[in-house]
Amino acid sequence: MKFADLGLSEELLSAVHDAGYTEPTPIQAEAIPQVQMMRDLIAVAQTGTGKTASFVLPMIDILANGRRRMRMPRSLILEPTRELAAQVAENFEKYGKNHDLKLALLIGGVQMGDQVKALDEGVDVLIATPGRLMDLFERGKILLTGCELLVIDEADRMLDMGFIPDIEEICSKLPDQRQTLLFSATMPPPIKKLADKFLSNPKAIEV
Ligand code: AMP
Repeated sequence: MKFADLGLSEELLSAVHDAGYTEPTPIQAEAIPQVQMMRDLIAVAQTGTGKTASFVLPMIDILANGRRRMRMPRSLILEPTRELAAQVAENFEKYGKNHDLKLALLIGGVQMGDQVKALDEGVDVLIATPGRLMDLFERGKILLTGCELLVIDEADRMLDMGFIPDIEEICSKLPDQRQTLLFSATMPPPIKKLADKFLSNPKAIEV
């Protein structure tokens, strides 16, 4: 299979080509069509399989059209660590270079002022660690009611780090009508439970 067979936009294919990739990895070939069909997804995949692009690429096309609103991010990606959050942001920059998407990175250890300013200007993709997101939410700096696409990445690491209660709280603040994608290297019972509670008829993929 080629990237061109996946129904991605020309602008996106050009950015993928510039990144030097010709063929989708197995997780990309399986996940991208599901995301495009707006289905919920549970993907069991290790780091190194190309899982990041499997959600970043279709998200760029989904978010290409639409209006940004103050303090109401259009999509949310939860990551367990600052480093992973920064890597996902780099992926959006690399593949989204031909698109006009606004990103914001909400991670600890960074001054809140710039993060609040970015949120005020309107954000298509919010990439956050759960702690900082909850903090800004509780201060009233962010509204999650317009967020129709949620990615929970590295769910098993979130579990190890004690973030599941935060994630449950965040999920409960998002609209019920949304698409949720969950990625995890393993599927321990608490992650299965989380998926049962917050995903709707998800497609399961394992690579
Ligand atoms: P990830 O599993 O998302 O951490 O990605 C692992 C590595 O694979 C990253 O360095 C990506 O740049 C690279 N990668 C992602 N997609 C592809 C692809 N289709 N072909 C070759 N390398 C890729």
